[in-house]
Amino acid sequence: MNEAEVVAAMRRHLESQFPKTCPLCQREFGSLREYLINTAPHGDAVPYDAEMGNWQPLRPLGTVTLANCRCGNTLALTSEGMPLTKLWRLLNWARIETQRRRTTPRELLTHLRDLIGTQVLAEPLLAEEKQPATVYGGSALGEPSLSASDQAA
Ligand SMILES: [Zn+2]
Repeated sequence: MNEAEVVAAMRRHLESQFPKTCPLCQREFGSLREYLINTAPHGDAVPYDAEMGNWQPLRPLGTVTLANCRCGNTLALTSEGMPLTKLWRLLNWARIETQRRRTTPRELLTHLRDLIGTQVLAEPLLAEEKQPATVYGGSALGEPSLSASDQAA
């Protein structure tokens, strides 16, 4: 695995946890993007198994990243529910990378979390997420079609 593959796998797992509701104020986050926009990261992302040097846990404690809802409540995204084999592959990558980069598991995971956040927030909105007021004429948004010009194969 490389970093991009690890980020993609983690992101898929995080996105599978939505929609998610804040139990205190009942605000619903329809997507990871909505969650990132409406919460503030709270502290580091914590990889419990890796921090204990347990790179192939049979009963994983998992990873946790916290964020504060606008109501003040603290919300968590975790690795819970991730298949063990997938978790082990990610941990194996982290074991090698922490040595290679001379970093700690916590620093590495927090770095990955921040990468995912930046990636998700940088993406253009899907059509169904756009409010009518922000949708402009087709020509302004139009991109040249690649499919027509790339047929030279
Ligand atoms: Zn809340």
